[in-house]
Amino acid sequence: MKKINNLAVFCGASRGNKNIYADVASEFAELLVQSQITLVYGGAEVGLMGVIADRVLALGGSVIGVIPEALKAREIAHKGLTELHVVNSMHERKSLIAKLADGFVMLPGGVGSLDEFFEIFTWMNLGIHNKPCGILNVDNYFESLINFLKIMITNDFMKKQYLDSIVIEKNPQLLLEQFKQYQHSIFSRWEDVKVSA
Ligand code: AMP
Repeated sequence: MKKINNLAVFCGASRGNKNIYADVASEFAELLVQSQITLVYGGAEVGLMGVIADRVLALGGSVIGVIPEALKAREIAHKGLTELHVVNSMHERKSLIAKLADGFVMLPGGVGSLDEFFEIFTWMNLGIHNKPCGILNVDNYFESLINFLKIMITNDFMKKQYLDSIVIEKNPQLLLEQFKQYQHSIFSRWEDVKVSA
C-alpha cells in the first residue's frame, strides 16, 4: 500500500449548472487538507478547478498546478498556488501530473476532464502505472458514462476487472478512504511488461 501524498484532480474548467458540484468540490478540498494531501491539478482559477484550488489554499493546504503556456492566459492561470509549472503542451501537462500524483480522481467536468481521466486509466490498464483512479460521482453526474463502460464489458471490448479497478463513489470521504487502502493486485499479470508513456 502506497501513501497518498499528492492527489491529482481532473474537473471542469466550468462550474456546471448546480451548486452541488462546487459544494462537493469544496468538501473534497477540505478532506485533502485534513489528510495533509497536496492537490495536483491543471492550474486554472476558473470553474470547479478554481473552486477546489481556492478551498485547499484557504485552509492552508498545498496546491501544485500544471498548465500549458498556450492555456495560461485563456484559462486564467491561478496566481496564488504553492507551485505552478508552466509546460509546453497538453501532453507534457498530463505526463507531469501523472508523475507528480500518487492517485487520480475525476470530478464533474467536460471533455477535458474525460480526456485526462481516460488517458491515465488506460495507462493503468497497460501497466504504465499502478496508482489508484477514481470517479467522484457527484449527484450521479457520471451515471451514463459508467453504464457505457458496462456496455463495453458486455460487448467484450473491456475486461470487467478494469472497471472494477476504478474507485467509484458519490461520497468524497469514502472515495478517499478507498484510495488510502488501495492495493494494486488486479494487473499483476502485467508485471513483466515494460511499457512507458
Ligand atoms: P473541461 O473538463 O472540458 O472543462 O476541461 C478541464 C481541463 O481539461 C482544462 O484544464 C482544459 O485545459 C482541459 N481540456 C479542455 N478541453 C480539452 C480537450 N479537448 N482535450 C484535452 N484536454 C482538454
